[in-house]
Parts: sequence; structure tokens; C-alpha cells
Amino acid sequence: MKTSVIGFLRIGKDRELKFATEKYFKGEITEADLIKTAQEIKKEHYLLQKNAGIDFIPSGDFSFYDGVLDAAVQFNIVPKRYSEIGLSELDTYFAMARGYQTEKGNVRALAMKKWFNTNYHYIVPEIDDDTEITLTGSRLADEYKEAAALGVDTKPVTVGPFTLLKLARYTGVKTADDFKAALASEYKKLIAELEKEGVKWIQFDEPSLVKDLSAEDIALFEYLYKEILSSKAGVKILLQTYFGDVRDIYTNLTALDFDGIGLDLVEGKETLNLLEKNGFPAGKLLFAGVVNGKNIWKNNYEKTLEKLGKIASFAEEGLKQIVINTSCSLLHVPFSLEAETDITDEYKSHFSFAKEKLTELSELAALSESDWKHAELFEKNAALFTGRRVNSHNEEVTRRVGAIKAEDYTRLPEFNEREKIQKARLNLPKFPTTTIGSFPQTADVRKNRQDYKKGLISKEEYVAFNKKKISDCIKLQEEIGLDVLVHGEFERNDMVEYFGENLDGFLFTKKAWVQSYGTRCVKPPIIWGDVSRKAPITVEWSKFAQSCTDKPVKGMLTGPVTILNWSFPREDISLKDSTLEIALAIRDEVLDLEANGISIIQIDEAALREKLPLRKTDWYKEYLDWAIPAFRLVHSAVKPETQIHTHMCYSEFTDIIPAIDAMDADVITFEASRSDLQILDSLKENNFKTEVGPGVYDIHSPRVPSEEEIVTALTKMREKLGDYKLWVNPDCGLKTRGETETKASLINLVNAAKKIRA
Ligand code: GLN
Ligand code: ZN
Repeated sequence: MKTSVIGFLRIGKDRELKFATEKYFKGEITEADLIKTAQEIKKEHYLLQKNAGIDFIPSGDFSFYDGVLDAAVQFNIVPKRYSEIGLSELDTYFAMARGYQTEKGNVRALAMKKWFNTNYHYIVPEIDDDTEITLTGSRLADEYKEAAALGVDTKPVTVGPFTLLKLARYTGVKTADDFKAALASEYKKLIAELEKEGVKWIQFDEPSLVKDLSAEDIALFEYLYKEILSSKAGVKILLQTYFGDVRDIYTNLTALDFDGIGLDLVEGKETLNLLEKNGFPAGKLLFAGVVNGKNIWKNNYEKTLEKLGKIASFAEEGLKQIVINTSCSLLHVPFSLEAETDITDEYKSHFSFAKEKLTELSELAALSESDWKHAELFEKNAALFTGRRVNSHNEEVTRRVGAIKAEDYTRLPEFNEREKIQKARLNLPKFPTTTIGSFPQTADVRKNRQDYKKGLISKEEYVAFNKKKISDCIKLQEEIGLDVLVHGEFERNDMVEYFGENLDGFLFTKKAWVQSYGTRCVKPPIIWGDVSRKAPITVEWSKFAQSCTDKPVKGMLTGPVTILNWSFPREDISLKDSTLEIALAIRDEVLDLEANGISIIQIDEAALREKLPLRKTDWYKEYLDWAIPAFRLVHSAVKPETQIHTHMCYSEFTDIIPAIDAMDADVITFEASRSDLQILDSLKENNFKTEVGPGVYDIHSPRVPSEEEIVTALTKMREKLGDYKLWVNPDCGLKTRGETETKASLINLVNAAKKIRA
């Protein structure tokens, strides 16, 4: 059986691309230097795949910033305000990705959005009425030739026209329909150009096909590809989908003249059923996405080989039509396990990062052609899935999850009653002012943590430093006149990593970086086993902070759904069960905070929206139906007078407002300063009961908002929400901000609140 990779990661095994790009931004290296680094990275990846015996190796999957942006630029979808500055091609590209500001020009970056259900973000192409779609440059051909010069024959890969049109933002009156003819004809040119270079296969990525499709969507897709495929001569076209199944368009897809169709058998719940029901026509290859491109666990060969056998039985010509593929690009997993020298083999043997997944592909290919049940390779793999992984099971956790009762998901008394009790107890002014939790993480704060981690300072020194920081922070907040204070989160590097490190069941890596956007990477923890709390985590810090003031200090926790969503999850138990385990651990922390005199506890769910399924029909039954109760489980046992806050880093929850309200928090703070406050109308329409603190200024910029500006924002908010439920706060944590601007901004915020009260 042949093997294929949808796309490889590009940041480099030591994040070389990130560091080179950042140096280029600072003017420390030249464009030629940056290109050289890129070539080295690509070379390593091409040869790695070739040596692993991969038959269909992608090219064109490399990107200096983002693949959707590459596709847009390749068809001249470049708004005039960027091209007009007169920068080099590469700098124009970077200007679109991250904005540009010198005397030559001043433009903001294009919008950035989450890439389907991943933690990766793409740049949103902007199509204006005067955009002229034309094939420009020869990026794909050049990439193909670059690989060919290394002796690697590749399949050029690019985002397909349907997904490109679906993801774009249209600024004028024209819509996708107005551009479809031009785009189809330019894709035809692209194919012809690549064919001239000797390309045998081209891959068009169409992940938008796994979403709910309307009749118009299907018509658009068919229009584009009938047109594009009408003139293809020798070159073969692979239509690649991922992140789900293509239930709305499967039969249309297989009826078109594609030479290969890539289907996701990991996340595509319906893929097998679609194949069984409709078959797979002869004369085409089926690229079967069976090696998970998103998670880091070893592939279960037995399950996969059985699946492949089934798939083959549904294909008209059987096994010979099947190519073993990754389920999506390997962009979403780290480079290699080899760097993880602190994790022992006992653990490591269960993982597979990008490099190791290449081996899995070729092993599966070899096994599929043999009497695999008796192969040594197979037995070795099977042994990983029998019995329990070391230190992964905790009897007490299993017992507790099993003992959760329906009433544990419900907090009593209900909201309205609690609200009165809390107002009486806390006795806060109208429009209470607060912050989201973190205060500026200055260099000394980070150094203190690092020195402690490295063993350079004692625990006492570490704690003493943080206590000083906390008491200063409390003093500052009192001076500014805030009503509900925070301790500042100086002990935390990252809101998920911090809790992961203090809970049992997590594993941390040294270099398992995954690109989040551009040069930004994240290093998600791995949920290895049952999660439990070793000991109270935040209680001492919060208690100390509360001892410094008479005003209420909010306890500060990360919620279970966010902890799960920003980690690599387990595959041996359900996401729901894993989340419930984390919820029970955080619940213990909530109750300890309460018992130690903390009257307000914030449980952040910054990533709750991120894993909302791509299909609306799955939102509740696949996700919200367990994620929201998991959040309630965390706080349901607190006393009525304890006030529970939650925070979200976005305001796009118009479509799930009832679910957010059903979290049954007492107060929710969220980002609103950058959106048009449309969310407020929706809250009103939905009779949102939870008190709200829509962020009154944007903390993502160093700009100090003026008092008037905040008054204006608050006035608008009052019109929509009424005074009784409105809180006043910034839109997210202050950790990335400087101390001076933070103080100035908060003073304006408090003064604005005072003005409104008066
Ligand atoms: N409490 C966290 C902070 O203030 C919340 C961070 C976030 O929402 N991303 O930093
Ligand atoms: Zn936030």
C-alpha cells in the first residue's frame, strides 16, 4: 500500500523558523538569510519523509506565516492598502500577516481566525470589489523544483478554491459568486503551469467540505471543480478533506473527475458509513486518513488495519485503491519525540509526534500487505494497548467520577436568590470595578519563577518575592480604587500549564511546540492519566492576598474545559470523562478557597468555545451537553453567598448564549471592546441572567484608553443591559502589559465608573 502525508509542520524542530523570522522582523538578518533558513528546514523535512518511504510527499505546505495567506497571495488577493506601500513581495506578505508601521505606510494586519477545530490560526483573506484574481508568482512550481533538486518528487499542495472563497471576507457588494469564474480559471492556469514542470499529482485542500453545507455551497463547489477539472490533462488531482466527514457532499464528490479523494477516518465520524453506503468508484485512489494528525498517541495498528480492510471492501477495486494517509496536516503535532529526553521510554513508547508518524505510515503500509496478525511489528504495537499504562490509573478518581449524582451538576439556591444574598454580603457599589486576574509579568517576576525552577533560589525566597509582589499589587489596586481585587498571578507562567503542573495525571514536554499562528507556538501538556489534585494549589496565595486588604480578593482558577482543550487529550477514555476528572480536582480547590475565606472565585473558561464542533447539529450532543455541566460541577457545592465568576477571551457567543447562561456562574467577564457590542443585544434578547462585565478596553494594545472613551462604552452598555447587572473591567488579563500603562488605564477605568455612578 502507498503512503501519503497531507502536510508537514514548518516551524522546524528547534523552532528555527520562528527565531529566524523574528530576527528578520527586527532587521537582524536579511531576506536571503531567512530564505536560507527556510530552505534548510524544507530540505530536512523532505528528506525525512523520503527516507521514511512516504510515496506522496507534500510541497508548498511550507509557509513563512500561513498557508491560507499563501493561497490568497498566489491569486493576487492582496488589498490595495498593502500593495500600495511599495514593499518587497515578502514584506508585503508580512504586512498583511501582522501589520506595518513606518513612515512609508501604516496598515493594520488582516484578521486572524481559528483554523477549524484546531488551535492554529489562519489569516482571513480579504476580497474587495476591485480585487482582480490572477495567478501571480510561481510559488508552487518553485517549491516543487526545490524539492526535485534534492531528489524528492513531491505533490504540490494548496488550499482549494472552495475553501478559499468560503474563508474570505468580502468587503464590498460582491460575493463569492462574483469571483468564482475568475478563480476557477486561475486554478486551471496553476494546474497547467505545474504540469509543465513535470508534476504528477496536485493536492487541493478543501476542509470547508466537512462543515454543514447548503445547496448553494454544493453548487459553488461543483461549479468550481467541473470547471477546473474540465481541462486537466496529464496531471492528477487529489481532493483532500480533513477535520471531519463530508456527509453533505460525498456522492457529488465521488461523481466528479478527481483522481484521488482524501477522507478523514479519525475525526470523520460518518466516513466509514458513507463508504459502506455509497461505495467508492473504480479508477480513483482513496487517501485514507487513518494516522491522527492532531494528537500525539501511538496509532493502534489493529484498529487501523481492520479499518483499512473494511474500507478496501467498500471500494470497487479493493485494496489497490487505498493510500494510507494522515488524517490532517502534521502541522498540529510537535516535531519529534527524540527531543524529549526527560520522559522515560515507558511513557514515550506510547507517543508519536510528526517524525514518528512517518514511521507509523510506512509500518502500516508494510503490515497491510502481509499476514499482519502474526507480524512482530504488529505484536509490539498491540502490546501497548493491552492493560493499563504505567501511573495512568487512580482508583479513587474512578470512584469519584462514578459517584457523581445528577444534583452535583446543580447549584442551589437558584441564581436570582443567590444574587440578592451576594449583593447584601459583598455590598459593592453599582458598576463594581475589577480586573481579569493577572497583572504585568515583568522581567523580575519571570526571573523569580525561573530561578526557583532551576533551583537557584530556595522555596522561601521564591515565596517571599511573590508575597511582596502580591502585597504591592493589592496596595496598587486599593490606591487605584478598584472594588474587587486580584492577587496578580505572579506564580503562573500559563493558565493551563500552571494547573497541569500542580495536578496529577499530566505530562510535560521539553520541546513539543506546536504553531499557533505565525511565529507563535504553544507547548500543550499531555493528559497522561486520571487527573487528581495532590494538594491545594492556589489557596496559600489567595489567602495571603486577602489578608492584605478588607476588600474582596477573587480566587483565580482555570476551568476544566479550558484545561482539556489546551492539552493533548487522552484517547483511551472519553473527553467527557477526562473533563469530569479535572472538574472534580478544580472543585476541591474551589471549596478550599471558600473554606479559607475567599468570597469571590473566578473560574476562567478562556477556551470553552474553541472545541465547539464544526457542524451545528453536533454542538450540543457532542460537546456542550457535557462541557457546560462539567463547569457547573466545579462550583455547584459552594454556599449561596460565594460569588462565582467566569471569564472568556472573546465575545462570539451570540449563538450559544443559552449554554453560557447555563454555566450558572454569577458573573461573566468577556471581551467586548473590539467587537461592535452586538453581543449586548443578544444578551438582552435572550434574557441573560448572569451579571456581565463586557471588557471596556482592549488590553491587547499598549494604548491607554481615555476616561471619556470608557464612559462612552459604559453608556452604551447601560442602554442595553441595565445598571443592576453591569460590571466594569478590562477585556482580559493584564499579564502582557507594562506597569505604567496598566496603572494609567485602570485609573481611567475607575474614574469612568465613578462618573457613571454619579
Ligand atoms: N485570569 C487570566 C489572566 O488574567 C485569564 C487569562 C485569559 O483569559 N487568557 O491572565
Ligand atoms: Zn481572557
